[in-house]
Amino acid sequence: MADGELGRNAGPEGLTEASRCSTFVLMEVETLGIARSLGWKAHMRCADGYREGTRSVRRCVYRKPLDLDTLVSTRGPNFPLSRLESRLMCPACGSRSVTVVFEPPSNREVRSG
Ligand SMILES: [Zn+2]
Repeated sequence: MADGELGRNAGPEGLTEASRCSTFVLMEVETLGIARSLGWKAHMRCADGYREGTRSVRRCVYRKPLDLDTLVSTRGPNFPLSRLESRLMCPACGSRSVTVVFEPPSNREVRSG
């Protein structure tokens, strides 16, 4: 590339440096592939019954651990974790209000204190 003028990338004013807000101590685990590689565990549980407005149906308490290997196999490693809930359905009651809880692996080797 020997271009002299096109080589520069003049950014507009107000382009501030992307300040990383490291609010999360955990690493950026956003996809199934990353979660799997880190050894995370996942549980799904039916969230049906959270709504209090409807008539009191008996609450579905379905819950089941999810297999990250299976999830990666079916959804792909780049599937975002945040979308997983909307993709799942409770097999017990058919509700789509499913909550997915991810658990980082407990480091047994690391002794605290
Ligand atoms: Zn259910």
